Amino acid sequence: MKKILLILALGILLLLCVILVNTLQFKAPDFSVAIPPTTINSDGKILSEAVSYQTISHKREMRNDSVFVGFHAFLEQSFPLLHSKLDKEVVNEHSLLYTWVGADLSKKPLVLAAHMDVVPVDYSSKKDWDVDPFSGEVKDNYIYGRGTIDDKGSLVAIMESIENLLNQGFKPSRTIILAFGHDEEIGGDEGAGGIAKLLEKRGTKAWMVIDEGGTLATGIVPGVEGTVALIGTSEKGYVSLEISANMAGGHSSMPEPINALEAVNRALFKLKENPLPDRFSEPIQGFISHIGPHLPFVQKMAFANTWLFKPLIFDTYKKSASGAALIHTTQVVTMFNSGLKDNIVPTRARAVINYRLLPGDSPEGILARAQRLITDTIVKVTLYDDFGTSASPISNHASDEFHFLAGAIRAVNPDVIVSPYLVLGATDGRYYYNISDKVFRFSPIPLQKEDLSRIHGINERVSLIGYSKSVSFYATLIKNS
Ligand SMILES: [Zn+2]
Repeated sequence: MKKILLILALGILLLLCVILVNTLQFKAPDFSVAIPPTTINSDGKILSEAVSYQTISHKREMRNDSVFVGFHAFLEQSFPLLHSKLDKEVVNEHSLLYTWVGADLSKKPLVLAAHMDVVPVDYSSKKDWDVDPFSGEVKDNYIYGRGTIDDKGSLVAIMESIENLLNQGFKPSRTIILAFGHDEEIGGDEGAGGIAKLLEKRGTKAWMVIDEGGTLATGIVPGVEGTVALIGTSEKGYVSLEISANMAGGHSSMPEPINALEAVNRALFKLKENPLPDRFSEPIQGFISHIGPHLPFVQKMAFANTWLFKPLIFDTYKKSASGAALIHTTQVVTMFNSGLKDNIVPTRARAVINYRLLPGDSPEGILARAQRLITDTIVKVTLYDDFGTSASPISNHASDEFHFLAGAIRAVNPDVIVSPYLVLGATDGRYYYNISDKVFRFSPIPLQKEDLSRIHGINERVSLIGYSKSVSFYATLIKNS
């Protein structure tokens, strides 16, 4: 008995030692490479005016083409040097592709992507805005308006940085390509999709592609008080399934044991009872190894020993919807149609369930899994809208390109922690893997926790200082690339 206790005690001691050593050895990658910052002071006036162009993404029939044409003219007027020195092409009617040919053609080009379209403003909430959403008004040192964060802020900052660099007589060594889509908010198929295809046809192999999707996040990463530069190295996939049933209905006074509505409901319940498993995908493993060392001791210990504390970390992440979405393929019922009248048993029912896929899960796999789980032969499980896409490939965060990007971010924002990240939504970035395996999603527009609801929401805004630093970031990136 004594011997067993002794072995047990030794075992626990050994375990504690391993945990402690792992924790003490847990160090973040070194991003202290010195890249000299290029500081540009912008007054934000051009972004302010850019907001007033209502480049709203709608289905093609509803799109206001003249607004896009007007926006192009506005850019030409605002950035005369850029338009005289760079080659400009219009792709699929409204997307813009600029090429700034570098001196050294042996270097692969840097692609800076952004989108000019914005989501509409919900007019029932228009009164909740502090200013008119398309006025571009500056209030309390913030530029307000639809698109300031998503994504005109980046687009205009890229152009403003280049206009300034040209003004200083700068000539790039590496070719710089600007890829500005016009339909990101409705899928990006014509814009980024068209540009990516065109570049591929020309044999372009990009050094890296930088698009929106990551951010300078303050107060968003749990446990970190300072700012984290989140660089999206992959984005989740997307698929919806349709669950339907057709059965004889009839009078509600003589119901059969089950009807179409109940059958679909039962199937949905079965799926709800079987959520997809929690796991760390590669971008989140990267996130843990980059953020973990900066956390308070107990959390750092957990992150340094995921082999032991994985369930604990999962529980912590599951406390918020956004945290939970990082560690599993989500499923949520988004549509349900059935029933006509209170005294008629419905003959058909249909529900749609939407999934956002972690890297590694496929639309086909999700469909097969649901079909396996739902054994009820009354219920049909099919792909909704004939559409599904896996998560994007994963851009390597241990690469020189990631390090360079981190260096440029830290040149302008010296104290930030840099980390890879998994983007939960979709961006234009996924189209560009045909020309580069280094697609990084990062926009320098800073975000606080309360800003997250402003994206596609009310009072979207960027601080004047945050915007000005964004211009400096792109100038630093271009000058040192
Ligand atoms: Zn966007």
